[in-house]
Amino acid sequence: MSRLFTLLSLILLISCTQPETKFPVYAWMGGPGDASDKQIRAEFSVLADRGITGLMYNGGQAKETYQRVGRIAKKAGLEFHAWIPTMVQGKNPELPPELYAVNGLGESAYDKPAYVDYYTFLCPSREDVRHFLDSLYGSIADLPEVDGIHLDYIRFPDVILAEGLWDKYDLVMDREYPQFDYCYCDHCVNGFKEKSGLDIRSEEDPSQVEAWKQYRYDLITFIVNRLADTVHARDKIISAAVFPGPHSIARKIVRQEWDKWNLDAFYPMNYNDFYLKGTQWIGEVCHEGVSAINNRVPLYSGLFICPRPEHKSEEPDPEGHGLVPGELKDAIRESLDNGAAGICLFTPGRMTEEHWEAFEEAVFVK
Ligand SMILES: [Zn+2]
Repeated sequence: MSRLFTLLSLILLISCTQPETKFPVYAWMGGPGDASDKQIRAEFSVLADRGITGLMYNGGQAKETYQRVGRIAKKAGLEFHAWIPTMVQGKNPELPPELYAVNGLGESAYDKPAYVDYYTFLCPSREDVRHFLDSLYGSIADLPEVDGIHLDYIRFPDVILAEGLWDKYDLVMDREYPQFDYCYCDHCVNGFKEKSGLDIRSEEDPSQVEAWKQYRYDLITFIVNRLADTVHARDKIISAAVFPGPHSIARKIVRQEWDKWNLDAFYPMNYNDFYLKGTQWIGEVCHEGVSAINNRVPLYSGLFICPRPEHKSEEPDPEGHGLVPGELKDAIRESLDNGAAGICLFTPGRMTEEHWEAFEEAVFVK
């Protein structure tokens, strides 16, 4: 009896020490590396104390990892969503090279990916690809420790890079160029021909063919909605990290028409510095997103945190940019004022003490 009482008091104490927040706050994070259960437990309890509601957790593709880490997250009082990239898949015996996407020059993302080595995107029109993704997400959604599935890289490679990245890659992306434009594999080209009667390979400028764009938006939408059925059949929720928009950016640069996706929540990556914009723009794209989905499900505004605010001005790589503590409160206010249901931090590990102080002022119920 006294042990039970101690246990109950402890639970009560833990729940009392967790701060009350005005809205849900999610966080993208990866792990666990070689961390022990004890280390993960300590990390998660700090996050819960800081006011984090739930984690979008990338732990690879092994079920055991999500079981183990998910159990610890639940005990810390955190929601736990498995964050697993979708169309970007590394080399895997289940995915032969012919299942990868092909660009407008006929080069495969399997052995000649665009921009960076890890841009090994799959072709979205192949049934084997859809089946692979279905069984991957279905098996993780089956786990009782997992509250939901969080899709990422659910898109084509960037046919236009965000403007803040042009210098880094020494590119001026004033139009769609064939080496960054996918997918021109036989399956996609023939599928489009059957549907439209057009042979896209014989078009002088495919970027001017609206039906070809729509065909590719629809390929991604088809995969998302099929995965949504798979996850919903297991009574779990499914969400995605998406590009801002959908109309102003996501459709144009990565072919995501996400207002047509049957998801339970959207997490647009409203990373203003990548688009050379300020915090007011975060409000504008939140407004656009919430309107596009008719506010039918929550939209959580993804915020990119600057890890070394004092060195931001001399940091050449946009990956090191992001919101400094002074901007974080504005970014949160802009998001909420424009219809976001909450926010999602990329990442809690990048937050400095000054960020957390600004965060508390904006988020905690006083
Ligand atoms: Zn293809």
